[in-house]
Amino acid sequence: MQQIEHIGIAVKNLAESNDLFQKLLGKPPYKTEEVESEGVNTSFFMMGNNKVELLEATKPESPIAKFIEKRGEGVHHIAFAVKDIRKEMARLEKEGFRLLNTEPKSGADNKLVCFLHPKTTNGVLIELCQEKV
Ligand code: ZN
Repeated sequence: MQQIEHIGIAVKNLAESNDLFQKLLGKPPYKTEEVESEGVNTSFFMMGNNKVELLEATKPESPIAKFIEKRGEGVHHIAFAVKDIRKEMARLEKEGFRLLNTEPKSGADNKLVCFLHPKTTNGVLIELCQEKV
């Protein structure tokens, strides 16, 4: 694995949180993007080599809606950049981590992504992401 790529934060209202984080971080998000397959609207703030991702549910069955219902708003996942996501998925599976998807899927911000079940990672949802070429 390489560096922390971004930290994902679940929010109830993306427009309000964009304003809040713009005040907090002193800059606007560099992009907002809907990921329809995941049922989320996202926005990204560049912070040096890392990013902050805000996620808002677009439908009640979205994983973000379920997360907020259960735990409220807050840190949702940590994403690590990987060079070869398939290789990393195979390595982690062999190490006993539970992958939430067996094939890399299309995520926000031009990435292939895979999530690890928080039960096998001390309660932290981990995302692997590889830049699409
Ligand atoms: Zn993410």
